[in-house]
Amino acid sequence: MLFDKIVGLFSSDIAMDLGTANIIISVKDRGIVINEPAVIAVSQDKYGQKKVLAVGSAAKEMMGKTHKDIYAIQPIQGGVIADFEMTEIMIKYFVAKVHRRKSFLKPRIVICVPFGVTQVERNAVKDSATNAGAREVILVEEPMAAAIGSGIPVSDPEGYIIVDIGAGTTEVAVTALGGLVLCRATRAAGDKFDEAIIQYVKQNHKLLIGKRAAERIKIAIGSAIQLDEELTMKVNGRENSGLLSTIELSTESIRLAIKEPLREIINIIKNVLEIMPPDLAADAVDNGIILTGGGSLIRGLDTYISECVKLPVELSDEPLLAVAKGTSCVINDDKLLKLIFNE
Ligand code: ADP
Ligand code: MG
Repeated sequence: MLFDKIVGLFSSDIAMDLGTANIIISVKDRGIVINEPAVIAVSQDKYGQKKVLAVGSAAKEMMGKTHKDIYAIQPIQGGVIADFEMTEIMIKYFVAKVHRRKSFLKPRIVICVPFGVTQVERNAVKDSATNAGAREVILVEEPMAAAIGSGIPVSDPEGYIIVDIGAGTTEVAVTALGGLVLCRATRAAGDKFDEAIIQYVKQNHKLLIGKRAAERIKIAIGSAIQLDEELTMKVNGRENSGLLSTIELSTESIRLAIKEPLREIINIIKNVLEIMPPDLAADAVDNGIILTGGGSLIRGLDTYISECVKLPVELSDEPLLAVAKGTSCVINDDKLLKLIFNE
């Protein structure tokens, strides 16, 4: 134990929110040091030899604009690792960037994983982090980190409902006594909103737009409720004929476009409310629902959910950072780590 304590003094532990869209890393006592898109761009020669061209923001710039010899991918899709090799390269790249080289000790890395990942996926994440130079890898359930990062007193006997709307998944969880009482997930999340916008524009305006454009539209004018003042935006795309043209989209049209994924999110919240143990459900009436994740930043989503499920809904302080902040609390607080650790 004394050895552990001495090791703890010298190593700079790392906390990682390995999301579908964003990877956020904090280092013990230094706070958040990396916040970049979880994207990697690779070139491949005619022998199949791969070379990493860019990781993070620079790689995201290349998405949708690559040619046959270069591709930019998100190695984590729908909350699960879709490409193990690329995920490992990405983790290695960021760990090397933040780990002080002069530190002779390997870091301990705490990584968040979605609630539903399989043992095979857990092992893959662990192996990637170990290969990236971790002395020890600790996995933390994402909804738990989101709850801690939103300031929920997770060790209380009180029940709290947390809804984390990321890019690939929406997770709805109930926490109490330092554990997750239950959790349900759906793929209806940020990426699905983007896809729904692409489909809507195609069907109603006969215009093809890319994923990045759809995301920009969602962020600029997207809303889950009717706004007092409609927002509009000009959008460039390609018609079926191949000609390029420009249309104007309004908040109202985006609201129609994302209706289905929104409905799916409501369904899964209702499902959790139905199967919650009654005593915890009683707590939820007082505590309401806490929203985290970038997807929760759609205008009026808190109001919309509150109206649909008849409970108070509160947006976490910095929804995009909640999981990362929670994971970082874990590396800074051994007692908390012991409480939520459940391998
Ligand atoms: P993940 O944990 O899956 O990486 P994040 O919690 O980082 O996801 O959220 C990323 C998602 O949030 C993306 O789908 C992105 O488009 C969306 N997003 C980010 N900012 C906004 C915003 N202001 N309005 C709506 N969606 C947003
Ligand atoms: Mg996330």
